[in-house]
Parts: sequence; C-alpha cells; structure tokens
Amino acid sequence: MWRMPTRTTRPDESRLIDGFGRIATDLRVSLTDRCNLRCTYCMPAEGLDWLPGPQLLTAAELIRLITIAVQRLGVSEIRFTGGEPLLRRDLDEILAATAGLTPRPTLSLTTNGLGLARRAGALRAAGLDRVNVSLDTLDSTRFARLTRRDRMADVLAGLAAARAAGLMPVKVNSVLLRGINDDEAPALLRFCLDNGYQLRFIEQMPLDPQHGWQREGMVTAEEILTRLGTEFALTPVAGARGAAPAERWLVNDGPATVGVIASVTRPFCAACDRTRLTADGALRTCLFATTETDLRGPMRAGANDEELAEVWRTTMWGKAAGHGINTAGFAQPDRPMSAIGG
Ligand code: SAM
Ligand code: SF4
Repeated sequence: MWRMPTRTTRPDESRLIDGFGRIATDLRVSLTDRCNLRCTYCMPAEGLDWLPGPQLLTAAELIRLITIAVQRLGVSEIRFTGGEPLLRRDLDEILAATAGLTPRPTLSLTTNGLGLARRAGALRAAGLDRVNVSLDTLDSTRFARLTRRDRMADVLAGLAAARAAGLMPVKVNSVLLRGINDDEAPALLRFCLDNGYQLRFIEQMPLDPQHGWQREGMVTAEEILTRLGTEFALTPVAGARGAAPAERWLVNDGPATVGVIASVTRPFCAACDRTRLTADGALRTCLFATTETDLRGPMRAGANDEELAEVWRTTMWGKAAGHGINTAGFAQPDRPMSAIGG
C-alpha cells in the first residue's frame, strides 16, 4: 500500500531529487505558448496574450539549459511541447543540438500534427526519436468544434508522415469530452489499431483557461474502459509501470495496447519523474504547481552553469508530494495548459 512519504534533509546528490525521494529524469520543454488550434479544454477562443518575444528563451538559451539538465542533473528523456512546438522555426536546430549531447537523451515531441506531414522527415533527420500526435475525434465537424479550426485532414496526414519517417512508436493522445466526443473511444482505438498507432486517452484536467473544469463533467478512466470493453477484450499489461503516466491494456490479447492517463481519478504522483521548463524560462515541478522558479533571469544576469544547476536542484527539492486535485484546497494554476506545456 502506498504511504505518504516524509521529507528528509536534501542529500549531497547531483541529480534532481525531491524531498520525497523521487528523482526527475524526464524533462518537458515548452518551446512556445502559441498555437494554431484553439482546443476548448486548453485555450480560449481568443483573447489570450502571447508571451512577448524577448521573454521567450532563444534556441541558444534552450540548448544551454537542456545541456545543464542532461550533463549535470541526470536528465535522460526530453519531450518538446507547447503550445504548438512545430511553430518554432528553430525546432530542427534545437533537436539536432540536443541529439548531439553526451549522454544522448531520448527525444520526443508532442504536437497537434499541423505541418507534420511536411516536416516529419527533417525532424527525424535532426534526431527526433518519437512523436505523440493529439487527435480527439475522427469526425471533421466535431474536430472543428473542438479545436475551433477545420484542420483534421492535416492531422491525419501528419500522423501518416510520422509513421513513414520512422518516428516510432507514433502515439495518439485523445481527450474525451462529455456530449462532444465521448462516444468515439472504440472508433479511435479501431483507427489506431488499423494504422499502427498507439492510442492513449488522457483524462481532462483542470488546466483550461476559463477555469470551468468540473469533476462531474469529466470522462473518467473507468468510463473509457467500459466503453472500450463493449468492442474489445482488454487485459492489463503485466509488469511494473514505473514512472509511465499511462496504464496500459493489451487489446484482444495483443500485441497492440491502449493506454489511459488517469491523472485525476488514479493519480500517479508518487512515481513522478518529471521536471518542466516553460517557454519563458520558468522551472515548474508539476503541471499543477502554483509557484515557479525563474531560470531566465539568473541566466541573462550571468549565472554560470553550476549556479543554474543548483537553482534547478533546489527547486525540485521543494516539489510537492502530489497535484492535490482531489483535495479540498486545490487551486488551479494561473497559466493554462498551452502556456505550461502539456
Ligand atoms: N499542441 C500540442 C498538442 O496538442 O499535442 C502540444 C501541447 S498540448 C498542451 C499537449 C497535450 O495536452 C495534448 O495531447 C492535449 O490534448 C493535452 N491537453 C491540453 N489541455 C488539457 C487538459 N485540460 N486536460 C488534459 N489534457 C490536456
Ligand atoms: Fe494547441 Fe495543443 Fe492546446 Fe490544442 S491542446 S490548443 S493543439 S496547445
């Protein structure tokens, strides 16, 4: 049975250990807060101010901080996200520099897929290993309603191009919303099975800009599994899940699997191995952290690599035990998901 860990005094440790003994080896880097879709659960239809250009980390600054994370802090996996990371024109440069590090981290990208059809080959050549593409529906009218843009065909083309470029496994992220696309779980799984993509459903989290998330409205992991169970035989994947956020099930005895990331109803905080960097250079210990630590300021003021590494270690040492969504005092962070980096 899981027990609440207790804080101890920070040990002499170069890696990103927190007060509960977890070690962060997975860095999520948000490359921009901008996006060319407007998913209702992530961004408002309009009126969200972009970060001003000078506040964004440059490619050189990003590469410096990623190098510190890999070479001084023991980070071994890097996922680029946003906003929409494909909107960064210097993405290939950032990827290539990151892939050139020793030890070489694993590189992945979470994207809405717009423009991926054109860029998948170059991203692969620059060093990208894998990709997650977000797709919540296979109905173009629903897609336009959900993302406020009529671009489903581009996403499908992007997925196919990622597979052709060898960005494997190609994963598909789907968020189900009640009354909008919650009847599509089996169809999404069939589509992914037919095309060789790995599907993962993500429970909707309270990170919407309207602060309108309601527990009762959320489609739970339990419901998703029940709906899938009407068409597929699901068997839990045996073996340790480690820090992976997705619980996985074999579909019809495998080898294909489906995953569910149940951050709300089955939190996995006790095994969390993540640290986050926002596009404007703030460290976050958690998606739901209500405080951040500025790295850009000290970096631009002349801090050396070891000083920046120490700021990072100290920040992670203060990571909370869990996100607290299920506690009475839970407060949603100020930044919406698009500005944190999902
Ligand atoms: N634009 C890229 C994309 O859509 O994949 C990367 C950034 S997006 C914030 C990353 C992932 O977060 C997407 O799969 C998206 O569906 C998910 N997401 C956004 N808002 C969410 C929310 N409130 N709850 C759960 N997942 C969310
Ligand atoms: Fe953009 Fe991704 Fe957010 Fe949708 S989920 S609005 S694609 S950042």
